[in-house]
Amino acid sequence: MHTHIWQVNPHQPDISILSRAGDILKKGGLVAFPTETVYGLGANGLDARAVNSIYQAKGRPADNPLILHIADQSAVEKLARNIPKQAYLLMEKFWPGPLTIILARTPAVPDIVTGGLNTVALRMPQSTIALELIKLAGVPIAAPSANLSGRPSPTTAQDVLADLNGKIDVIIDGGNCEIGLESTVIDCLGEKPVILRPGGITWEMLSAVLGPVLIDPALAGDSSLKPRAPGMKYRHYAPQAPMLLIEAIQPRSYELLNTEINKALAAGKKIGLLISNSAAKSIEVNSGQILLQCYGSRLQPEQLATDLYSLLRWFDSRNVDIILAEGVEEQGLGLAVMNRMRKAAGYNILH
Ligand code: AMP
Ligand code: MG
Repeated sequence: MHTHIWQVNPHQPDISILSRAGDILKKGGLVAFPTETVYGLGANGLDARAVNSIYQAKGRPADNPLILHIADQSAVEKLARNIPKQAYLLMEKFWPGPLTIILARTPAVPDIVTGGLNTVALRMPQSTIALELIKLAGVPIAAPSANLSGRPSPTTAQDVLADLNGKIDVIIDGGNCEIGLESTVIDCLGEKPVILRPGGITWEMLSAVLGPVLIDPALAGDSSLKPRAPGMKYRHYAPQAPMLLIEAIQPRSYELLNTEINKALAAGKKIGLLISNSAAKSIEVNSGQILLQCYGSRLQPEQLATDLYSLLRWFDSRNVDIILAEGVEEQGLGLAVMNRMRKAAGYNILH
């Protein structure tokens, strides 16, 4: 299969191009498209065969369910039932946007979308391209991130092409994704709402609307706990090089980084170093064997969120032997950034 790349202006998308892409989706094809979070790999969410081809193209385990993307809130009642009040509050506050809500499903949702669960994950994305494409397709669009399973999620059309060339019909190239991390996933079916995956809508933002919000305890990395979002149990977002994550307050993190840098250099390794600006000022980074990327402040990880996956892919493209990364503060978007960094590191963490 030849994979076409169609350039589209993210602010004023060419509707005739999106309408061709919408037709491909209607007919059961696969179209990758940009959202404000990451690039998604879309298929007609009501067509079990089309959805199956998403799993095939990505090599995604069948028990990892997909998010259905909608462009109009009236679609919610067709796909979900017994919708709690809190869910409506969230839709009102955060849709369109990077928030996925878990709800009880209706029979309209094919089993293959939900991996056999009796719940369904719904999101209304904010990006104009995504919204227009969903409207033109006229069906809910099942769309996981458009990467090979296990790899860092794609934030550019080139990232999608690197993983899925020849496996999908079209990539809509709408430039870089704004947020750079996948959506927040929240379950409000129980007594207290629970975050199953942290993302662009933060715990703080959700708590301000809902009151107390829990975080799935399995996210802390204890492998004896089973995550409630099935996808969170897999190694994920991972670069090819092994990654070591330093989680310590400053200046202790500088000492740890120094020690690990020296160890790796002594072993003749090429290092990808991903650290805060203050760490870069405080430690010695003057070897030709070190590729340095600074991400700014540990308290404001917005830029790091946007760039994280492309930096991991960049280190891979430069064939580093190890990635040493300094963690950020776990507040606001920092919670999502740390979740992805820990998974990228396979929980290889130094405290
Ligand atoms: P991705 O599409 O790659 O961003 O991953 C979607 C995430 O949502 C995965 O972690 C899934 O396991 C999770 N998810 C999708 N549907 C459900 C559901 N019905 N219940 C819980 N988690 C879900
Ligand atoms: Mg994914």
